[in-house]
Amino acid sequence: MCPAGRGGAGAVHLHRQEADGQEDEDHRDACMQALRLWTLFATCAVAVGQNQGQKNQECPKLNAQMPEFQKKTVHIKDPGRVEEIICGLIKGGAAKLQIITDFDMTLSRFSYNGKRCPTCHNIIDNCKLITEECRKKLLQLKETYYAIEIDPNLSIEEKYPYMVEWYNKSHTLLIEQGLQKDKFAAIVRESDVMLKEGYENFFDKLNEHNIPVFIFSAGIGDILEEVIHQAGVYHSNVKVVSNFMDFDENGVLKGFKGELIHVYNKHDGALKNTEYFKQLKDNSNIILLGDSQGDLSMADGVANVEHILKIGYLNDKVDELLEKYMDSYDIVLVKDESLDVANSILQKIL
Ligand SMILES: [Mg+2]
Repeated sequence: MCPAGRGGAGAVHLHRQEADGQEDEDHRDACMQALRLWTLFATCAVAVGQNQGQKNQECPKLNAQMPEFQKKTVHIKDPGRVEEIICGLIKGGAAKLQIITDFDMTLSRFSYNGKRCPTCHNIIDNCKLITEECRKKLLQLKETYYAIEIDPNLSIEEKYPYMVEWYNKSHTLLIEQGLQKDKFAAIVRESDVMLKEGYENFFDKLNEHNIPVFIFSAGIGDILEEVIHQAGVYHSNVKVVSNFMDFDENGVLKGFKGELIHVYNKHDGALKNTEYFKQLKDNSNIILLGDSQGDLSMADGVANVEHILKIGYLNDKVDELLEKYMDSYDIVLVKDESLDVANSILQKIL
């Protein structure tokens, strides 16, 4: 008898000597069967090897194989390095991937048809629940502090205390307005907020492959959640960490929960969400998306980072900031209102 898993010409030869014709024939059949199985197995093994070889060679040349990178909005200081990182992300596949992303002006649009789109804070600032007097005060605060936020001549450390001041002052004004939670769905629906082009593909694909998405926002969590809920993309793989409002028993705003998150203290997000990131210790490949210099540090403190690709949207003060952004973000997208580049990379990985 030919033992299972073995075969070949030697085994066939051994059994040619047996006297009983029928038995000999049976043995020959069995051995030929084993030989065929062995050949099939060997062919499959070669095919698997070839596929693995192909995957290694699949590291794309950005411009040649990823047309989205030819867009005028795309600026890359070191394309070779970006190709290497993308190659690492592709090799790691879905199992190793996680997304860490900002929300305002990163997943949401900066402008549409030349008109500025609102941030989560702006959605509240502009809504009809706010008195005119309060709106004026919020606008004044925005004029003062947004100029500081994007001032190219100030360091992050210098901006930091002003950001805290801005948030505290504006949050105090909002609390004075006695906002009602049950009005938020209508406020969001009536606002001009829009997610970036290609958002459905982005969120749906990540959900389909169960890729963890950590939305880390200095905006207002309650509004943010309502935006992605209404857009139909608040899937179970999405976790939102942001400034969440605290309401009294009648659903009236009475304060904010937890520690303030502002644009320039995102570096300790991972440390403050240790449980989440501990569960993702094997997701060592990260795509980070942001639009502020402060967003660059969103993955700081994540243990076990193998490859990280930082994609930065530069929406404002382009001439002054482009060089700085290109020094710190791997890919800079200037006035780009789409998720095309991120989607093209996901297309290669997933
Ligand atoms: Mg932002």
